[in-house]
Amino acid sequence: MIDLHIHTTSSDGSDEPVEILKMAQLSGLSHISITDHDSIGAYEKLRKIKMADYFEGRIIPGCEFSVAHNGKPIEVLGYGIDLEAIHSSGIVSDEKFLERENGYLEKMKAVCRNLGLAYTEKLSISRSKYFASQVMHADLRKYPENEKHFTKEIWESVNAFYRTCINNEGSPFFLNQTKNYPTVQEAAKLIKQAGGKSFLAHLYVYFSDDYDALLNDIISLNALDGIECYHSLHSRERTDFLLNYCKEHKLYASGGSDYHGDFKPNVKLGEITNGAKIPFGILEPWLPMPAPVVI
Ligand SMILES: [Zn+2]
Repeated sequence: MIDLHIHTTSSDGSDEPVEILKMAQLSGLSHISITDHDSIGAYEKLRKIKMADYFEGRIIPGCEFSVAHNGKPIEVLGYGIDLEAIHSSGIVSDEKFLERENGYLEKMKAVCRNLGLAYTEKLSISRSKYFASQVMHADLRKYPENEKHFTKEIWESVNAFYRTCINNEGSPFFLNQTKNYPTVQEAAKLIKQAGGKSFLAHLYVYFSDDYDALLNDIISLNALDGIECYHSLHSRERTDFLLNYCKEHKLYASGGSDYHGDFKPNVKLGEITNGAKIPFGILEPWLPMPAPVVI
């Protein structure tokens, strides 16, 4: 069993990378990939320890890249990437991340002021790698008087806030984030140059009116190597649909829980919908990757 989509404290997860290794060992996983948002910081931490003391399986170096597609942010997972190549590309700069996200946070505070919403004026992102939308959503929820201004879904789900407010031109919270993101083709090229393979992350979290059209549109770019089929927010039917789609279009399949620790308490490491596990079989066709594996 495998889990190729895991977040740590190097992005918006609550667990240190070494804790992930311990849990992966206990769960009996054979292959894992830590895929923090626009960060490979977890691998820098892991370099300092003897990983085999904690996890006997194989670690596939990975990263979840923020990418622009038709003016909306989506995510592309890169696996088997050479970490040095990714680092020197500048795409995973922590400094740039903090500068960008703190800029967004200031814009969101101005929106709150205009709308008369309660918020914490001194809010900022310092060491952690939470996105501005996550920090603002959590802050808005601290003030119960804000609740009446949002739909139940947006109030309760940061993903809904991100996809339908921050990324919606019709919302006062709209931020033109994608101007700072690479396109799908650029991200795929970068991943390829770093010796890795690129996968469309969790199709069904993008709040689309027509997922089939969105999928066809992205795949028709002929840029990605595969699709993340197994995911904690994909139903069994949708997973099967994507697995078949991969077969028909000669694409690789991947899968992961999208574990974030305490930040998403319902998501368990190594598990997807209804506690199901992700079979190693999907990884087999693309496992022999040219990039060196970090051990
Ligand atoms: Zn993720």
